[in-house]
Formats: sequence, C-alpha cells, structure tokens
Amino acid sequence: MTLTNSQKRFNDNLIKLSIENNYEQCIDEWSFIEYIKKTDYDNNCLCGKPLIHQYYFINEKTEKIICSGKSCKQKLERLKKNPNSRKNIDLSKIIRMTNGIKNIGDFNLVKYCKRNFKIIIDFHLNKITQITNIKELYDYKMYLLKEWNSFFNINNLLDEIKRIENEIIETERLENEIIETERLEKKRLEKERLEKERLEKKRIEKERVEKERIQCKKNYIFGNSGKTLLWLVNNSTLIEIQSLLNNGGITEEQYNIILDKR
Ligand SMILES: [Zn+2]
Repeated sequence: MTLTNSQKRFNDNLIKLSIENNYEQCIDEWSFIEYIKKTDYDNNCLCGKPLIHQYYFINEKTEKIICSGKSCKQKLERLKKNPNSRKNIDLSKIIRMTNGIKNIGDFNLVKYCKRNFKIIIDFHLNKITQITNIKELYDYKMYLLKEWNSFFNINNLLDEIKRIENEIIETERLENEIIETERLEKKRLEKERLEKERLEKKRIEKERVEKERIQCKKNYIFGNSGKTLLWLVNNSTLIEIQSLLNNGGITEEQYNIILDKR
C-alpha cells in the first residue's frame, strides 16, 4: 500500500511521539480526548494540514497530546479507545478552557500543565469545592494522586480537600448536636406532658371522690338513721319514722321533712 506524503508525515510524527516504533502498535498508546471546532485555522494536524475541526488525543504513556484532522483521525479510529477516562474528560474541559493547544505533535502534558498551572488548579478547585461528602472528597484525592500528581504540584489541592473535609465533619457534628438537643427537648416535653396528664387525672379523681362524698352526705343527711332521705320517704312506715324520732335517729325538723315528702 502506497502512502501519500501527508499520510506518511502523520504516521512518522505519531511514531516519533510514541514509545513503540511500529505504527500499528503505537496507535494503541493514544486515546481520544476532545473535538473542538474553531472559527479559524489555529492548529495543524500531525500531517501538517491547518485545521478548523480539531480532534485531540493523548498518549497515555508519554503524556504527549496531538491534534488531528478529520481524515487523519478516520484512519486512526482505533485511537478512540478509552475516550471516557476521568482524566481525559477533565483534560478535554481544560483544553477548551485554555483555548486548545496551539503547537501540534511534540506537545508535553507536563509542560502544558506547568504553563497552565493556575487554570488547572482553578479547574480542580472549582470541582473540589462543589463536593459535599467525605467519600467523594476521598475519591477526588485518589484521582488527583493517581492521574495528576506527576504533572504539577497538587499540594494546594490536597490542602483544600483536607479543609473541606474538616468543614464537613464539623458541620455533621453540629447537625448531630442539634438533633441530640432536639431529641432531649422532645423527651423533656413528653415527660412534662405525661406529668401534667397524671396530675390532671389525679385532680379529676379527687374531684370525683369529693363529689361522691358530698352526694353520700346528701343521701345520708339523716345520718343517725342509717337510711337515705329517699329511702325513708319511699319505704318507711309512719311507726318506723316516729321510732327514729324517739330514738334520736332524726330530728323533729327532719321528721317533718319526711312527712312533707311522703
Ligand atoms: Zn492530517
């Protein structure tokens, strides 16, 4: 198969930027990062052609980034392998934020990261400050250590993670404290309610007993007779009433009341 000049340039450049010396093998070192459409031809394909449609790829072993045009990319469909690694997704956002990578080919991610240090730090900081739980913070820390630590100094980011972690722990502690205070207050109120209820029951019972006592007293106003007024009115004979009067069981006044009511 005969290669055109531009195809040959693309292949030669790709091999130069890879670890493997064989074109077919070195393809596997590269992953797709991002497609960016520009308004002017501000970058070139690895074959040399100026590009508006720019496809960015990273070599996972050499950390080089290249730009490719549509037709060269099509020859390299295998480059699309692993396009969704977390680092590459972030890298694609960063590439967009930094307006792409001007120079093609011999591009080194370490240098790139150093040059765009502030932008990349801010990018990660922005992501970190949006995290609200410990586990995600830990994940991000591991991600930075694994994928970014070799490109730039991540100490500031790790400090920020630590700070947010402490903040979350403190917030959770305060929340728990509030919950505990509320729980105790609820318990206290419940105890208070039960005590009130108990006292109220006691009061009602006392009232009932008192009423009963008064009622009994009323019923037994003819105390020494041992009989209620109602009974004496309804059931007693005149002789019995007179006998009660004579024995001091009832007073004369009471005797008259019974007679009246009969
Ligand atoms: Zn090309």
